Amino acid sequence: PSPDARRRVQARLDELHERCRAEPPGAVQRYYASGRGYYPPNEAGVESEHFAIAGVTIDGDVHEVGDAEHVFPLQSLSKVFSYALALADRGREHVLARVGVEPSGDAFNSLRFDERHKRPFNPMVNAGALVTSELVAGDDADERLARILAVLRACAGNEALAVDPETFAGELATADHNRGTAYLMRSLGMLHGDAEEVLRLYLQQCSVGVTARDLAVLAATLADGGVNPLTGDQVLPRRLVRDVLSVMYSCGMYDFAGSWSFDVGLPAKSGVSGGIFAVIPGKFGIGVFSPGLDAYGNSVRGIDVCSELSDRLGLHVFATE
Ligand code: GLN
Repeated sequence: PSPDARRRVQARLDELHERCRAEPPGAVQRYYASGRGYYPPNEAGVESEHFAIAGVTIDGDVHEVGDAEHVFPLQSLSKVFSYALALADRGREHVLARVGVEPSGDAFNSLRFDERHKRPFNPMVNAGALVTSELVAGDDADERLARILAVLRACAGNEALAVDPETFAGELATADHNRGTAYLMRSLGMLHGDAEEVLRLYLQQCSVGVTARDLAVLAATLADGGVNPLTGDQVLPRRLVRDVLSVMYSCGMYDFAGSWSFDVGLPAKSGVSGGIFAVIPGKFGIGVFSPGLDAYGNSVRGIDVCSELSDRLGLHVFATE
């Protein structure tokens, strides 16, 4: 793009950031298990003013505004990439037999399963992500984690992505609900292996530190059928990306997924640390970070930013006007 066009896009993003910052950011949530803050790990509220927006086009043009270098845990956004890896490793049929593609209409940590098919409803909620973590190939837990990190790094074009040990320690120390989920699923035959090992792998991927800019690159890679716009590498197969985006579209925002698809109309995923990324297929990726969450566990400002962009730029996938 010409310097002029770049300036225009940047000015619009700056203005959007300014406007959304004027709105109340929502409350920084507390752990359902222990009352400890999800984000930030220590004093809830202190960092709730962090607010960043990043956009990356499939040509690799990067725009960012706000605290775009601030690092936060990936949390549920990691579910997208362990699902992608499970699909790559085991194939579509095998993965479908173990985890569905139906929106659950339940919260992200729900203990309700698809009884008819004896599997979690979808890979975008905790129960489903425990299954996809188990499906990632590798001789041992270290190798499976290394392979998840490799996919994340390739998709983000950032070799520095790593598990934040403090976040992981905090997650593990307050994992009663997820641990309970894993054991319950094993008793129901939905998990087969070592429940502690799969729990750790799931919480490690949740604890990977990222920036809003990383989120935007991850989203842009999905927007271009698995080609990372910064490195030019085809890091995920195109067909597989279609499957991943379909599930993000119907299930990426927990029990708000239907309203999101209706209003914003973009495949997206959110996480409890306050990150959201949205994919505009064939065009660009957006990453937003703002830790204040609504009752569903979605970033309040993240939703504002994506709704506004979708409206103003006509990004809804079914918009033809
Ligand atoms: N670590 C969180 C959990 O497992 C991630 C959930 C989320 O981001 N929605 O509960």
